[in-house]
Amino acid sequence: MEFSHRPVTDQSFENALAKARDGVRLSVADGVELLTTGTDTEGIDPRRKERVLEAADRRRAEVVGDEVTFVANLNNNVTTACNTGCLFCNFKDRSEQFRSDYQESHGGFTKTPAESRDIVADAVDRGIYEVCSVSGLHPALTLDDEHRELLERSDRGDLNYRSPGEYDVDPGTYCAQIRAMDVGGVHVHSMTPEEAYHARRGTDWSYEEVFRRLKAAGLDSVPGTAAEILVDEVREVICPGKIGTAEWLEAMEAAASVGLGTTATIMYGHVENEMHRVMHLKTSATCRTGPAPSRSSSPSPSSTRRRRCTSAAWSRAAPPPPRTS
Ligand code: SF4
Repeated sequence: MEFSHRPVTDQSFENALAKARDGVRLSVADGVELLTTGTDTEGIDPRRKERVLEAADRRRAEVVGDEVTFVANLNNNVTTACNTGCLFCNFKDRSEQFRSDYQESHGGFTKTPAESRDIVADAVDRGIYEVCSVSGLHPALTLDDEHRELLERSDRGDLNYRSPGEYDVDPGTYCAQIRAMDVGGVHVHSMTPEEAYHARRGTDWSYEEVFRRLKAAGLDSVPGTAAEILVDEVREVICPGKIGTAEWLEAMEAAASVGLGTTATIMYGHVENEMHRVMHLKTSATCRTGPAPSRSSSPSPSSTRRRRCTSAAWSRAAPPPPRTS
């Protein structure tokens, strides 16, 4: 596939490796040299690769030590209904299939807020202290009741909205789902930039306003998924229906600005090259400059498993906040 960004640099591998060992901030060219083990030779050099891995492991030991932490987390995804059409996604089901007048059965699901609450409450009883919820962009999902009223009154036909009454199951609103999942002091991690975009469609509300309302409903942190590769020439190939890189950043910075923690993911191993990967890392790292810095980056190799942007696994370097009950 022909891209304008190619993994070619005028940097030297040895210089990039020395900077990495010394903890000096790397440029994009440095990162490309390390990922490719030098762009002056063909393929991956196994001895150089070992040196890169050894330098990375040493930095890891210096920065975070040997302690490994984990999060007892439940994934509670609200719906598989989505018409965005990302090429890599086999999680989605066409939203038409969820309408009451659709005759054939399908394998998708939608949960009501009450169902989400029961699922999370049961998992909290069994010891989880965090719920991650990311979903397809169901046409009936709105931010809250005010948003629903605005969309009901709108005569625009391009807002990917339909009344909940047209579907077998009403997913409620994003705020209602967040309130429902906010059970027993659990940490609620939800609302990707793509979902935040869906939650403000047809309005002039800023992302700050959207995340402020979600935070008031009980949201604690925001998954920086739907990121895939944050380079538009790659997004145009694998997920042309999604927001672009600049809007993804705008949403994440808005989340941080209202005091929500954030994460960032990368989905790689498809059409992108090493230059795209390093550009992605540089772009997602800029989110860390907000008042509520990113908690982690989570790599997600592309595979044929059931996958969507928002279901990528994620992790946090720090332990979760203590349970309050
Ligand atoms: S990756 Fe996400 S936004 Fe894209 S089609 Fe799948 S569920 Fe929808």
